Amino acid sequence: VVLLGITRDITERRRAQERLSYLAHHDELTGLPNRSLFNDRLQQAMIDAARRNRLVAVVFLDLDRFKNVNDTLGHNAGDQLLQRVGERLQGAVRRGDTVARLSGDEFTVVLADMAHVDDAARLAQKVLEVFTQPFSIAGRELFIRVSLGITIYPADTQDSQTLLRNADIAMYRAKEAGRNTYQFYTPQMTVKAVERLGMEHALRIGLERGEFLLHYQPIVSCRGGHIIGMEALLRWNSADYGLVPPIDFIPLAEDTGLILSLGAWVVRTACAQLREWHVAGFPELVMSVNLSVRQFQHNDIAKTIAGALSAASLLPQHLELEITESILAQGEEVTTVLHELSRRGVRFSIDDFGTGYSSLSYLKRFPIDTLKIDRSFVQDIPDDADDAAIATAIIAMAHNLGIEVIAEGVETDEQSRFLHSQGCDAMQGFRFIKPLPAEQFSALLQSYSPFPA
Ligand code: C2E
Ligand code: MG
Ligand code: MG
Repeated sequence: VVLLGITRDITERRRAQERLSYLAHHDELTGLPNRSLFNDRLQQAMIDAARRNRLVAVVFLDLDRFKNVNDTLGHNAGDQLLQRVGERLQGAVRRGDTVARLSGDEFTVVLADMAHVDDAARLAQKVLEVFTQPFSIAGRELFIRVSLGITIYPADTQDSQTLLRNADIAMYRAKEAGRNTYQFYTPQMTVKAVERLGMEHALRIGLERGEFLLHYQPIVSCRGGHIIGMEALLRWNSADYGLVPPIDFIPLAEDTGLILSLGAWVVRTACAQLREWHVAGFPELVMSVNLSVRQFQHNDIAKTIAGALSAASLLPQHLELEITESILAQGEEVTTVLHELSRRGVRFSIDDFGTGYSSLSYLKRFPIDTLKIDRSFVQDIPDDADDAAIATAIIAMAHNLGIEVIAEGVETDEQSRFLHSQGCDAMQGFRFIKPLPAEQFSALLQSYSPFPA
C-alpha cells in the first residue's frame, strides 16, 4: 500500500510538472506554441538551415479588423475565432513548421528547411485562400481577412529578433497595401518604419506645440449663390516637416490613436470659430467637420461633441458631422452613437459618397441629412455620360429620401451648370473658393457677392 501510494504520488507530480512545462510553452487559448517556444523553434530552424544551406521564413500574420469582432460580438466570440484561426493555420502549413500565437490576434509561422523563397510565397497564398471561407462564430458567418509579412533567413538578417521585427514591418506594409495580401520584407521598409516613428513623435508634440490649424472651405447654395456653411479642413504646419497635407498624416494619426485628441481639438476649434461668425452677423452658417472611424470606436465621441457645442453656445443643428460609408459598416455601437447625436439635433452627412462600401440600405437605417457626391464623379461631368448619370441618380435618389446633396470638388462653370440643372442643393470647390484660413474667411463673409450659377 505504501509503495503504491508513493508511485501514484510520483506519477501525479510528474503529470503536474508536464502540465506546467506545457503551459510555459503554449498559449492557453489556442494550444499553439507561445513566444518562448516560437523563439526556440526559430533558433533551431536557423541552426539547421545554416548547416544544410537551406532557408527559413518567418511569417507574421495579423487579422484585419479583429477588434471589430471583439467589440461587436463580445470576447467569447473573439476567443472562439482565435481558436478557429489557429486550427486553419495549422492545417495550412507542413509538418515541421511552427504556428505560434504571440499575443492578441498576432500569429507567426516558422517555415523551416525551405529550398526557395517561392515556398514562402506559396504558403502565403494558401493562407489567404483558406481565409476566403467564412468562420461560423456565435451563429454568424464571419469573413475574416489577414495581412502577412514575410522575411527570409539568412538573406534579410542572421538575427532571430530582427527577423521577427522585419516580418512585423512587412505585415504592416501589407495592411497599408490594402489588406488581405502579403508582402516580403525589404530594407527600404525599415527606413520607412523609422520615418514613421519620427513622424509619429512629431505629430504628438505638434499637438502640444499648437502646430495644427483649420482652413475653411465655403459651401455655396445652388439657390441664390450664398455661402450657407463651410467645411473645416485640418492643416499641419510642422516645425520638422513643413506643411503636411491631411492625407499624409491623418492615416498615421488614426493608426496611433492620436486622432482621438486631434479630432476632439478639431471639433472644439471649429465650433468656437463658428460661434464667432454667428456673433459677427451670420447666425445661419452651418459648420461641417470630418470624423474618422477611429473616433467612433470610443464611447466618448458623443460627449466630445456635446462639450464642444456647449462650450461655444451653439445649437446642435449648426454642426454637421461628415462620416464615411465605412463608418456606417461598423455595426451596432456606431448606430447607437449616431442616433443619440442625431436625436439631439446634430446633422450628419456622408462624405465621398459613392466611393465606399455603398449599401443603399444605410440611407434608410441611419439618420443622414446630406450626401456629398465625391469629386471623382464630379470631375468629368457633363462630358462623361456615366459620371453624369451617376450624379443625376444620386441627386434624384437622395431627394426622394428627403436627403440634401452637396457636390464636392466643383471646378468649372460647366460642372456647376450641370449640377444646378439636376437640382443639386449646394456645391463646394475651387470654382467658388479654396479652403481659407479663418481671418480670410471672415473677410470673405463681409465682402462677397452671391455666386452666379
Ligand atoms: P474631404 O473631406 O473629402 O475634403 C475635401 C477635400 O477636397 C479637401 O482636401 C479640399 O481641399 C479638396 N477640394 C475642395 N474643393 C476642391 C476642388 O475643387 N478640386 C480639388 N481637386 N480638390 C478640392 P484636403 O483639405 O486636402 O483634405 C483631404 C481629406 O482629409 C478630406 O477629404 C478629409 O477626408 C480628410 N480631412 C481633412 N480634415 C480632416 C479632419 O479634421 N478630420 C479627419 N478625420 N479628416 C480630415
Ligand atoms: Mg469632408
Ligand atoms: Mg469628400
